[in-house]
Amino acid sequence: MTISTSNFVTPAVVPDRNCPLCPRLADFRAQTRAREPGWFNAPVDSFGDAKARLLIVGLAPGMQGANRTGRPFTGDYAGDLLYATLLEYGFASGVYRARPDDGLQLVDCRISNAVRCVPPQNKPLPVEINTCRQFLAATIAAMPKVRAIVLLGRIAHESTVKALGLRLAAAPFAHGAVHMAGNFKLYDSYHCSRYNTNTGVLTSDMFRSVFANVRKDLG
Ligand code: SF4
Repeated sequence: MTISTSNFVTPAVVPDRNCPLCPRLADFRAQTRAREPGWFNAPVDSFGDAKARLLIVGLAPGMQGANRTGRPFTGDYAGDLLYATLLEYGFASGVYRARPDDGLQLVDCRISNAVRCVPPQNKPLPVEINTCRQFLAATIAAMPKVRAIVLLGRIAHESTVKALGLRLAAAPFAHGAVHMAGNFKLYDSYHCSRYNTNTGVLTSDMFRSVFANVRKDLG
């Protein structure tokens, strides 16, 4: 596959705390700030070292998770499974206590989201995914050593594939699929949401096998 680096020429890696680019999400953010003034309630930045070889891309902050705590996947069910798996495969160290001051460190790993602001019902609109892609593309471009990208769910998969300038048809989403993309290897997984695990779409063994594969490849 050929990767278009033109997608990497982006103005900023981190959106402004009051980013106005998605009016619906900005309105939703204002409502949540009024209702829960002690929460983070802003675009959630990536977590982990930009020099990491592994990048994990999720969908968007969860209302009670990253939107509340300010750290990706921290404070909701999806984080319980993700961080336990990262600890098991050596991509994190310390103890995950579902709070951003728990001291947990990512090891050779970074976590980001396709959409930086919490969307109503966890469902960003296509225009919002497209608008926020500039920050995802800039995040990838700012990681000089990244070799493995784990994509949690179809939206993260498609937005990352587009951010890399690839055709979706060349890299169809499927749990467990691996696609080569220039210097990158893309690993697909169903999203580790409570819904997916409660319904049996994703088991912890299915999720662990994705990271076992990444660990084997990265050494
Ligand atoms: S989702 Fe992204 S582009 Fe849209 S308002 Fe939030 S930070 Fe800005």
